[in-house]
Amino acid sequence: MNGNGLAPEIRRRLIQACQRIVGPEGVVSAPDELRVYECDALTYYHRSMPDLVVLPISTPQVSEVVRLCQDVGVPFLPRGAGTGLSGGATPHAGGVMIVLTRMTRILGVDVPNRMATVEAGCVNLWLTNAVKHAGLFYAPDPASQQACTIGGNVAENAGGPHCLKYGVTTNHVLGATVVLPGGEVARLGGMVADGPGYDLLGVFVGSEGTLGICTEVTVRLMPQPEAVKTILAVFRTIEDASHTVSGIIGRGIIPVAMELMDRETIQAVEANVKAGYPLDAGAVLLIELDGPRAEIEAEAVGVEAVCRDQACLEVRVARTEEERALLWKGRKEAAGSFGRIAHHYHLQDAVVPRTKLPQVLREIAEIGARYGIKIANVAHAGDGNVHPMICVDRDVPGCEERAMAAGSEIMRRCIEAGGSVTGEHGIGLEKRDYLGLMYTPADLAVMRRVRAVFDPAGLCNPGKIFPDTAEHAGASHSPRGPSAVSKP
Ligand SMILES: Cc1cc2nc3c(=O)[nH]c(=O)nc-3n(C[C@H](O)[C@H](O)[C@H](O)COP(=O)(O)OP(=O)(O)OC[C@H]3O[C@@H](n4cnc5c(N)ncnc54)[C@H](O)[C@@H]3O)c2cc1C
Repeated sequence: MNGNGLAPEIRRRLIQACQRIVGPEGVVSAPDELRVYECDALTYYHRSMPDLVVLPISTPQVSEVVRLCQDVGVPFLPRGAGTGLSGGATPHAGGVMIVLTRMTRILGVDVPNRMATVEAGCVNLWLTNAVKHAGLFYAPDPASQQACTIGGNVAENAGGPHCLKYGVTTNHVLGATVVLPGGEVARLGGMVADGPGYDLLGVFVGSEGTLGICTEVTVRLMPQPEAVKTILAVFRTIEDASHTVSGIIGRGIIPVAMELMDRETIQAVEANVKAGYPLDAGAVLLIELDGPRAEIEAEAVGVEAVCRDQACLEVRVARTEEERALLWKGRKEAAGSFGRIAHHYHLQDAVVPRTKLPQVLREIAEIGARYGIKIANVAHAGDGNVHPMICVDRDVPGCEERAMAAGSEIMRRCIEAGGSVTGEHGIGLEKRDYLGLMYTPADLAVMRRVRAVFDPAGLCNPGKIFPDTAEHAGASHSPRGPSAVSKP
């Protein structure tokens, strides 16, 4: 069942019109093939089929498809690699899904100015691989970086393990070419920071595909550091590990990454990746320092001292690039490893002030115990970004309901601790109902007005972000009819 329930004749004509724009090879319309696109990586709660999928290869093609959707009155939404974890690329209202994965080129690398321009479907890691030879890298590194696209990163303002020191996507995007929901092509930002006028690029980054479709992105590149030191600190309890996080930053040391994994996560990772994490540990911290060699040697002494103050059981420093890569492989494949300890899981995402981590992690454990649900934790701890992994067994009666209730309680506790319901995965469909806990009706009204300025017809990725946008989703969109579809 597709979400919009387009009349067969309108759908047939829409398919024909899209084929004229992108070629027959760029349109997916067979029901079994459309099933691939029914959800993003939030596979657990929301699924809905698009009416058709279009894979353009250029900005003008994206613009033409968007104009067609507007003419017909059919919803549309962008999708990158579909690794999003909040349902942002789930075609909740059916309609036309515009997938950017054929727009993958690196259009230019400007080494002296440390910039690159890529098409939005370029996979995150490809950019770093392409500029390595020039001693540069692209800093935002979501754990999904082998698959996710830079356009999807812009839409979600993605973070990643190494964003503690370098900042998240918005700190690295200089400009973007965007097809607005009306089909016009706009260039937001530029080649230099801080242009005059409203910061529309700032508004667009993190807008989750609701303000238009980004087709090209100009990003900053960073110089590779002189040296890197990767440390695995092993703790008896998660509380000791989380106190260490604030202790290190409080000492004036900003590691490039500080990732926390608890006992359940360690068990899952070791069963899958064999990264060498000790199975009897209560938690580990993966800490990475980078910069001038002399500086990081001094910082490493400070890090070790803080770890020892917090009753650390062991401090292990990676001696070779292979050892470092293996420690990181464990962390980056943590989410994929949870299949080893749970039939299904729901990966939560919230952020709290760093100093509240010990309290919030304790509360998460209490909530899990009270609901009889196993909850594993992995966290970009330096940022206070927690990812409770709520394990669910659908074969156990009531387990799903208890997991949902536990998840909801965790979100509330994070807000009460002064945090937010998303650290990096976005609101999408999953977190819509929590926004009202963070913002007043007046706050939300302003945000909705901004959205309406970009997308007055409410056709661009409807039903996402706002708690009361049900009226935008699916049923209320009545396509204008075959005549509109027959336009070239
Ligand atoms: C194992 C795993 C680990 C992850 N680790 C991290 C992490 O460390 N940090 C983090 O931030 N996220 C992480 N994520 C979440 C996800 O990878 C990011 O949100 C990523 O930015 C999504 O990119 P994508 O190309 O897959 O986008 P999609 O999932 O396809 O889309 C995400 C949203 O962006 C919109 N969108 C996509 N492309 C465009 C475009 N060109 N223009 C406008 N809007 C667009 C979509 O409509 C949707 O709302 C992880 C996911 C997985 C599965």
